[in-house]
Amino acid sequence: MTGCDWCHLSEEDREYLLCDSGCWSVFLADEQDYIGRCVLVLDRHCGSMAELTDDEWQDLLNLVRKLEMCLKTVFGADLCNWSCLMNSFFKDPEPCPHLHIHVRPRYRNPVVINGNTYADDAFGHHYTHDKGGRIPEEDMQAVFIRMKRWLDS
Ligand SMILES: [Zn+2]
Repeated sequence: MTGCDWCHLSEEDREYLLCDSGCWSVFLADEQDYIGRCVLVLDRHCGSMAELTDDEWQDLLNLVRKLEMCLKTVFGADLCNWSCLMNSFFKDPEPCPHLHIHVRPRYRNPVVINGNTYADDAFGHHYTHDKGGRIPEEDMQAVFIRMKRWLDS
């Protein structure tokens, strides 16, 4: 669909593409307030979960299993918070939503990346919105490489 930014992601947007399952593209999120946080973007323009095809659901199920295993194995995540929110699209008087799903891994114990410690202080509670998600570029790269290596193997 023309006019949808999510249908026309730039090369820069795609820098942190972890994998493409065929129906979904998985990106490491710009915000790493929860280490390994990703966004799954449907590879076609579609506005809600209710409109997913059976193949897209099956593909999503496989990805949920794979990503949870990856996040638990690579960073020691205890669980994952999955959410499909879509709220920001509806700030526009003429919303053009493009389905995407967030996954935030949650940690009982801090994660250490390049000697920097990242703690999940709200573990056991709803994720926080104001945690401050930008991490040093070298840590972002390290998170990306570790996840990609696991997913590609
Ligand atoms: Zn779109």
